[in-house]
Amino acid sequence: MRSCRLLPAFFLLFALGSFAQSAPSEKAVGFSIDNIDKTLDPCVDFYQYACGNWLKNNEIPADQSAWVSFVELDERNLVTLEDILEKASTGGANRSPVEQKIGDFYGSCMDEKTANEKGLAPLQPELDRIAAAKDKAVLIDAIARVHMIGLNPLFNFYSGSDLHNANQVIAYIDQGGLSLPDRDYYIKDDARMVEMRKHLVEYVTETFTLAGRTPRQAGDSAQTVLRIETALAKASMDRTLRRDPKNRDHKMTRDAAVALAPNFYLNRYFADEAAPSFSELNVSNPDFFKQVNAVLDSESLDSLKTYVGWHLLRGSAAWLSQPYVDASFKMRQALTGQKEIQARWKRCVELTDNSLGEALGQKYVDLTFGADGKQRMLKMVDALEKSLDEDIQGLPWMSDETKKQAKVKLQAIRNKIGYPDVWRDYSSLTVVSGDLLGNFQRANEFESKREIAKIEKPLDRKEWAMSPPTVNAYYSSSMNDINFPAGILQPPFFDKKMDDAVNFGAIGLVIGHELTHGFDDQGRKFDPEGNLRDWWTADDGKEFEKRVSCVADEYSNFVAVDDLKLNGRLTLGENTADNGGARVALMALEHMIADDKTGNEGKSIDGYTPEQRFFLGFARVWCEKRRPETARVQVKTNPHSPGKYRVDGVVQNMPEFQKAWGCKAGQPMVAQNACRVW
Ligand SMILES: [Zn+2]
Repeated sequence: MRSCRLLPAFFLLFALGSFAQSAPSEKAVGFSIDNIDKTLDPCVDFYQYACGNWLKNNEIPADQSAWVSFVELDERNLVTLEDILEKASTGGANRSPVEQKIGDFYGSCMDEKTANEKGLAPLQPELDRIAAAKDKAVLIDAIARVHMIGLNPLFNFYSGSDLHNANQVIAYIDQGGLSLPDRDYYIKDDARMVEMRKHLVEYVTETFTLAGRTPRQAGDSAQTVLRIETALAKASMDRTLRRDPKNRDHKMTRDAAVALAPNFYLNRYFADEAAPSFSELNVSNPDFFKQVNAVLDSESLDSLKTYVGWHLLRGSAAWLSQPYVDASFKMRQALTGQKEIQARWKRCVELTDNSLGEALGQKYVDLTFGADGKQRMLKMVDALEKSLDEDIQGLPWMSDETKKQAKVKLQAIRNKIGYPDVWRDYSSLTVVSGDLLGNFQRANEFESKREIAKIEKPLDRKEWAMSPPTVNAYYSSSMNDINFPAGILQPPFFDKKMDDAVNFGAIGLVIGHELTHGFDDQGRKFDPEGNLRDWWTADDGKEFEKRVSCVADEYSNFVAVDDLKLNGRLTLGENTADNGGARVALMALEHMIADDKTGNEGKSIDGYTPEQRFFLGFARVWCEKRRPETARVQVKTNPHSPGKYRVDGVVQNMPEFQKAWGCKAGQPMVAQNACRVW
C-alpha cells in the first residue's frame, strides 16, 4: 500500500497487504441506490441486499487483486497524480525544487528503455559489496548497508515511541527477513503453503539465474534461502500474539541486546547505521534475535551472502530490467491471483508517492482539498466524539472510575485531517534524472536516516504515517491521534452532495471506527499520552474481556473463502472498532436529526428513511470482490475482516438496524447472542 513504514502502533482502516495494487473505472464511485438488489430481503443478508447490483455490475480488473471502494478511489487518485507528475517531469527550468524532485523521480521511473538497457548493472556495486565480505563480521557492514537502502534481510531496525514513555523515541529491533507473507508459509504443511514455498524456490532460482549463476547453482541458492527463512520463521511470533503489546515489550540495555546475539556484532551494526548514541532499546522478540544469532553461527559465509544478496535482488527487482520485473510479478501472481501487471505509469506513480509522498502530496492537496472540506470534517469528528463520550458514560457494565479515565483519554485524542501542518523537507535527497534504481535507493536511504535520527529525541506528534493522497485512515496508540489523509475525504466516504445520513454511515462510521481503536483490546492498554499503562479497574477489565470474547467468537464462525474461517482473535481490534464505530455514528446522526428545526434531516429520500440510508451508506463502502488467492492470504495476514463481514457482522449485533429495517427475531440479521463492547 501507499504508506511509509507502519509500526505496530498504527491501526489502519483497510489493508490489502504489500501486494495491493491499484485500473481506471468509468463507473460512478459514489453512493447510489442502484447498487441495491431490491429483490432480496435486507434482514436475511444485508450486505448482499445493499451490494447485490454492485456485485453484478463490477468485475475485478485484470491488473487488480481485489475491487473495493478503496481501490476504486486509488485508481482515480492515480490519474490525478499522474497528471501532476507528467507536468513536473516535462516542466523544464522553471520548476520549483519540489517539482524538480517529483518530476525527475517519476520521469526516471517511466524511462523503461534505459532500465532495460542497464539490466543488472545499477545493482552490481551493492552485489559486489556483499560478495567482497571476507568474513561474517564484514558481512554485517554489508547487511547494514542493505538495511540502509530500505531492504530488510534477517531483522528490522527502526525507531518508535517508548512503550512506557511515549514522548521519547527509542530504537527497536524486530523480527523480519521473510520473503513470503507470514511465518505459516514456512511452517505449515497444508497444500497451499507447500505450493507457495515451491513458487518461492522457483522465483529465487529464476532471479539468481538471471543474475549470472548457473541453473544448478541458482537452485542450490534457492534451497539456502528457504532454509534460512524457515529458521527465522520458526522463531517469529505469530500475528495474533503480536497484537498484544505486552508480548513486544522487551526494553533492555544495549549490552543485554548485544549479549542476546554475540555472533551479530550489534555495536558494529549501529555504528554502520550512524545511529545516535543510546543505552537502551526495545528488542521486540528476544527469541527471534537469538535465532538470528544461531543462523549466523550455523550457516556458512557463502550461504549468508546468498541470503542477503537475495533480499537485495528481491527488493530491487521491480526497478530493474524486464526479466527481473516479470519474475517478481510471477510471484505476486501466485499469491494474489492478479492476472496482469499494472501499467508502468501506475507503478511509477505509486513509487513516487511511496518515496516522496509529502512532496507529491503538496501538489495533490493544492488541487483537490479545500478548506471547506476540512471544516465539515472537523464538525463531524466533534459530533462523533460527543457520541462516543455519551456511549461510554451510559455503559451499564463499566464503573464510574474507569468511565472517568476513558473520558480523559477520549478528550486527549488529536484529530489530524487532510495533510500535515509541516511538510517533510526533502532537500537533502538527491534525485538524478535517468537513474531509477539510484533514486529508489537514495529515497530509501533518506527515509532510513530520517527514522534513525529520531532515536533519543522527543516524539514529533505532528508527524503523519501516510501520504496525503492515501485512501485510508489510521489511529496511532502511541500518539493517541486519528489521521484522515485528504485521499479518503471523497465519495463514497465523504460526499458533499449527499445527505448527512449517507455521510454518517460512510465517513462518520470511519471516524467512529478510528476513535474506537483507542478503546479496543489493544488500544485500551494505552493511556491518554500513549503509554502502555493499565487505567482500568480489575473488574471492568474482566467485563471488557468477556465482551470482546463474544466478538471474537462471532467472527471466528465466518467463512472467508472455501472452508477457511476468519481468525476472530487476529481481527478482534478491527471488528470491535467497526461495531463501536457504527453505534456512535448512528447516535451522532440521531442527534443531528433531533436538533434539526427544519425537519429536513428526518425526511426519507428515494423511499429510504435516514436510518436506512445510514446503513446503506455504510455497506457501500465495503462492497467488494477479491480473488480467491488474495482472500486466502488475507485470512492469514490481514487484521481486517472481508467486506461482507464488516457489514453483516456489525448489523446483526444492532437492535437499531433491526428497528430500521423491521427485522424479526429468528432472521439471520438478528443475532441471538448479539455482542456489544462499546
Ligand atoms: Zn482499523
